[in-house]
Amino acid sequence: MTFVVTEQCIKCRFTDCVIPCPVECFHEGPEFMVIDPEVCIDCNACATECPVGAIYQDKDLPADQMVFKDINRRLSKIYPQVLEKTNALEEAYKWRDVMGKIHYLNASLDDLNSEISA
Ligand code: SF4
Repeated sequence: MTFVVTEQCIKCRFTDCVIPCPVECFHEGPEFMVIDPEVCIDCNACATECPVGAIYQDKDLPADQMVFKDINRRLSKIYPQVLEKTNALEEAYKWRDVMGKIHYLNASLDDLNSEISA
């Protein structure tokens, strides 16, 4: 099993999750974070640190967030690894309670399409 970063992280990217992770499995994209499922040891240290509640164990993912399991897996191969907390995105506090943000992942999904066709 693995933990998964979901839609609520988009346009926020607070990165508090990076601090407790013992195995450095977070990767940072332009709009949000992802977890490398091949590195995650399923320790549950990160989920409670996320200020927007974006991180779930894969077996507990809400039905409308299941797509993020694949998004995390694929984008963790593209986004750079992040080892320390960084600044949240500029408008993070404006976006933290907004739902339905997956369409803001457009740039990332272009990367994803490139990765699929590679
Ligand atoms: Fe890292 Fe543990 Fe969270 Fe996996 S569950 S991302 S190993 S802190």
